[in-house]
Amino acid sequence: MRLYHSTRGESRKLRADEAILRGLAADGGLYVPDSFPALDLRALLPLDAPRLFARVLSALLDEYTEAEMLEIVRAGYENRFLTDEITPLVKAGDMYILELFHGPTAAFKDVALALLPRLITRAAGQLNVRDEIRVLTATSGDTGKAALAGFADVPGTSILVFYPLGGVSEVQRLQMVTQPGRNVRVCAIRGNFDDAQTAVKRAFADPGLNARLGARGVRLSSANSINLGRLAPQIAYFFKAYLDLVRAGAIEIGEKINFSVPTGNFGDILAGDYARRIGLPVGRLLCASNANNVLADFIRTGIYDRRRAFLKTASPSMDILISSNLERCLYHMGGDAALVRAMMADLADKGAFHAPAPLMENLRAVFSAGWADDSAAFEAIKKLYHETGYLMDTHTAVGHRVAADYRRESGDSRPMVVLATASPFKFAEDVLRAAAGETLSGFAALGRLSEVCARPIPGPLASLRNLPEIHTDVIDAADLARYVEEAQS
Ligand SMILES: *Cc1c(COP(=O)(O)O)cnc(C)c1O
Repeated sequence: MRLYHSTRGESRKLRADEAILRGLAADGGLYVPDSFPALDLRALLPLDAPRLFARVLSALLDEYTEAEMLEIVRAGYENRFLTDEITPLVKAGDMYILELFHGPTAAFKDVALALLPRLITRAAGQLNVRDEIRVLTATSGDTGKAALAGFADVPGTSILVFYPLGGVSEVQRLQMVTQPGRNVRVCAIRGNFDDAQTAVKRAFADPGLNARLGARGVRLSSANSINLGRLAPQIAYFFKAYLDLVRAGAIEIGEKINFSVPTGNFGDILAGDYARRIGLPVGRLLCASNANNVLADFIRTGIYDRRRAFLKTASPSMDILISSNLERCLYHMGGDAALVRAMMADLADKGAFHAPAPLMENLRAVFSAGWADDSAAFEAIKKLYHETGYLMDTHTAVGHRVAADYRRESGDSRPMVVLATASPFKFAEDVLRAAAGETLSGFAALGRLSEVCARPIPGPLASLRNLPEIHTDVIDAADLARYVEEAQS
């Protein structure tokens, strides 16, 4: 059985289900596997999408059998993903686009958050934890809704989402406040995202609150991307894209391909590296940043420095200066928990750290980096639309632009898969302006975009304007702990 340990050297080893239930190690590190399985590509070729996901997931999280995983995958995706391909691959011009946005919230986080609740409840059952698992999430928009959609009405769980009042887009707000479900609560915080995030972290660390909840059979948990259970499902779609190319005759089995990944917290691209370690023939992983280019700078220089202005961009889900999952990458590339601990301490104390040359050499053998600001991303949307008729969202456009730049500069002509992390309809105003030069807002932009690309508005977004607003709570950040305690279970 595969065990997991912390990136920061804590000696305790855990089973996959324990690591998923705990989320974060007690020393502040993230859980990583002691070893990686090896998958045989040829054996994966005949599998349909759900079976492929189940095979990949149970290979890494081998505490769960493949049959159990298949049940979890089927229950998680059935009737909620608009395609039984789960993550279809399409060709547009000279690159491939891996569409990860066909889930209930039209962004890629659905792929993992549709499974996480079941991974958690299965873990709780296996470990004889009978408490209600109460998931707290602070969100700047996307994660909150994907977590709500994943946890709604899942027995044994409840979910509380906190968003900054006035700090999310109207579509994002509507997506959250219209969320039905017996076990869901959505609450606005007077303050910004950092205030909400800090208040949630304080609740996790509040011994009095946790003891009082524990006495009532409630245990707090997180749906954040540091949870191993959110990483694992993302590995599967890298395999899916590769096998689709083999089946289409675009590549020979064993041939290496490249992936470009619009990156914020480094979770999605790290899943690509895990896929490589498990046996996927990966040439390069392109880390594509927006104008918050702290990661692109790091990969080029070896210096990670977050002491810079936080910029608001047209790809808000990538507006991040501290990329949590980079820690896992640093651990695997350096192989040294003491080194990771020291680098993370420098990041916390000084706002910067320096990675040693041998670690960076290992890292650069796999990862390349680039970045695109809003105007470069908008150009990419326009160019691809005019050349092929394909419309990308603002995040995907960053990945596409970085991929095009990389190809031109490196001469590397391997097949390139760009991960499409959100539906263009989710960022309709910017996409419409970039592609067609038209300025419309709200649902008018959605409707016009649908005409422009001759595709229907995704159902979950189209129905928003007719749904009742259920959640109207607004609190001060200081009252969050009391709110969590008083939420009915
Ligand atoms: C979260 C998100 C990203 C960034 O993914 P990471 O795993 O945090 O790197 C990119 N695009 C969209 C649309 C997202 O929601």
